[in-house]
Amino acid sequence: MDSKVMTKEEIKRNKKKALKLRKPHVVGAIIFYFFMFVFMSAVLSLAMVVFTTHYLLSRAYSEIDYAMSMAKIYDSSVAEGKQVDYELLSQAIGTYKIVDNEGNVKFTNGEDTIDMTKSSSVSSFDGTPYSQHVRIYGDTNTGYLPPVMGDDSVVNANFESDDISLFFSTLGKSEDLDLSFWVGVEDLADGSTFFYRAEMTITTLDYVFSIIFAAVIGIVILVLFVVLIVNSITHLASHRRMTKLLFMDYVSDNHNWMWFLIKGEEKLRKFSSRKSKFAVVNLVFVKFRNYVLCHSVEEGEEMLAKVYKTITENIDRKDMCARTSSSFPMLIKYTDENDLKMRIHSIISKLEKVDSNHRFNFQAGIDFIPATPERNRDPQLEMYYNNACAARISISDSGESGIAVFDRKLLNDQKWIDNVNERQQSAIDKEEFIVYYQPKYDPRTDKLMGAEALVRWQTETGIVPPGKFIPIFEESGFITELDHYMIRHVARDQKRWVDAGYECVPVSVNVSRAHFVESDLAEQIRDIIDSEGCPHNLVEIELTESAFFDDKNALLHTISNLQQYGFAVSMDDFGAGYSSLNSLKDLPLNVLKLDAGFFRGSDDQEREHIVVKEAIRLAKGLNMVTVAEGVEDKAQVDFLAAEGCDMIQGYYYAKPMPADDYVTRMSSAQPEVTEDAGESSDISEPGDVSVTGEEQ
Ligand code: C2E
Ligand code: CA
Ligand code: CA
Repeated sequence: MDSKVMTKEEIKRNKKKALKLRKPHVVGAIIFYFFMFVFMSAVLSLAMVVFTTHYLLSRAYSEIDYAMSMAKIYDSSVAEGKQVDYELLSQAIGTYKIVDNEGNVKFTNGEDTIDMTKSSSVSSFDGTPYSQHVRIYGDTNTGYLPPVMGDDSVVNANFESDDISLFFSTLGKSEDLDLSFWVGVEDLADGSTFFYRAEMTITTLDYVFSIIFAAVIGIVILVLFVVLIVNSITHLASHRRMTKLLFMDYVSDNHNWMWFLIKGEEKLRKFSSRKSKFAVVNLVFVKFRNYVLCHSVEEGEEMLAKVYKTITENIDRKDMCARTSSSFPMLIKYTDENDLKMRIHSIISKLEKVDSNHRFNFQAGIDFIPATPERNRDPQLEMYYNNACAARISISDSGESGIAVFDRKLLNDQKWIDNVNERQQSAIDKEEFIVYYQPKYDPRTDKLMGAEALVRWQTETGIVPPGKFIPIFEESGFITELDHYMIRHVARDQKRWVDAGYECVPVSVNVSRAHFVESDLAEQIRDIIDSEGCPHNLVEIELTESAFFDDKNALLHTISNLQQYGFAVSMDDFGAGYSSLNSLKDLPLNVLKLDAGFFRGSDDQEREHIVVKEAIRLAKGLNMVTVAEGVEDKAQVDFLAAEGCDMIQGYYYAKPMPADDYVTRMSSAQPEVTEDAGESSDISEPGDVSVTGEEQ
């Protein structure tokens, strides 16, 4: 399946989206429903207007059509020259009147109630003109004029609310409503006009009919309205339920991480202007899993619930605490840092005794959130919590209860480690590591006897000393790559110098203890050196003292194999840290390197001399060559020479130097002695990346 890896920005966007929990706006919903109600009422009213008007109009038009057909009967009788049977017409249509083209009444059979002041021309219902010119007139009794279509196709006599009010004016009254009007069909065959009194009566049945219609529309609208409201209420309820599920921690029956994150950021934003100080705490139940292992998941959960309860009882009501796994993230408002630390200490001591049968340990990491404008804009609670976790992890090894405050310097160190890990492989590929050589001299003859290869990292910003990356490589295991690299480069250099006719001396290379898990280490080293064509006696292997605490058999196996292949093996840093006298007994090493610590920091020189003298004597007794490291002044050199120390590697003679400078040393017979060697040191502080090389 084609799965896409999200970028940093995409993750950030997704997170923002996920955390944006919109609250349903109750006030907004009420306003919305009010307007919906008004709108629906308007729709209902409009429907009633349209219905009533249409209903009245269709009745009026059937009357007009009827008048037309009667006029036609009259017209055709006149056209055919027949005698018009007025009586018969009277029976068929009720009240009517015929007026000739001079305005004289030819016939009338009832009261003349035509209101000539109120009239309108008429087109048929569908808008096409009638064959004859037709006008409608008001009736002096009813005063009603239907809103018919005029010849000019414009709705005239505007069917306003008058019609509706008229329509319903007699509602509930016993008598019917008379809406009669007059229809005049003009230009008949004999030039006369046929007037007909259209009798429109609105009966109770009409009312019932229109009320049913209104009721149906009303019910439909009401149902729609109710559905809308019910839907909203269920939405609101399900939102509440979802929020609860999303925020609930089922173990403590309280809050979870999601709640902490969302509500915590809301809080930081809310209190932004008041300059309130907040701290994030990562409180962890140490070895909680062991407790579960020895008891049960249920008992473990019960304990977590107890812990949660104890914490919430001991923090302010407005402070926040949640649970995630066996951690308790907290967001606490504080005024004084020390005071907050005391509060956390006191919570921890209560938690240690949360169960009378056990004594637990709790560790807390604290990050005091800086009150910057960024905090207000984008609170990034998760980042501060991570800082608190990092602080807590720094004390996690002890397993004891305790608290640690996040140190922003810690962050820089961590960033450096991350940077090193990220760049290490490309640094090897691009050969950014360079070999420095520190010569070793015979103190009696001042003759060059050997050298130690020491790595330097050449970066764009300067040379980085090994102390800043070797421990990181040792931690990650990458040190094995570097050691191979160094062995290869030393072998390559030595081979080149031998071929160039230099009087080469053995160069020792440091091999980290991380290597000793590999049973074929000696073979690997041999193969690398062979592949460069370098004689075995020109490469020495240095093992640090700490390596001697590992599996002794594996070490013995590797050391004897290396010696078999013709490589000398030295014990580095002898005397530093733990004593490895025991190792000396078991391991047949060739060289003993006395640690620089022997020659530094002792007030009692007499005692120092006794120890060094005995160490040299011990090495000699074991048939080992002695090398004194870190020697910086002449008195030390003279003393070591007198005691029979074979070689000195120290600033007195030379600092570690680039290959080109070392080549010069090889060719010249005597070293250039540095009298003020002790005043400068090549050991640099971590974090400073632009340290330059010793001899630069
Ligand atoms: P080390 O193997 O004990 O190397 C000797 C260190 O002492 C070197 O530091 C050297 O510059 C310093 N030194 C020598 N003489 C004097 C002196 O008179 N005064 C003072 N103050 N210092 C002196 P450097 O080069 O910084 O190396 C530090 C450590 O880094 C080494 O200690 C070694 O453990 C490690 N290291 C260096 N290069 C490599 C390497 O290629 N592989 C491995 N695995 N470790 C390396
Ligand atoms: Ca060394
Ligand atoms: Ca050393």
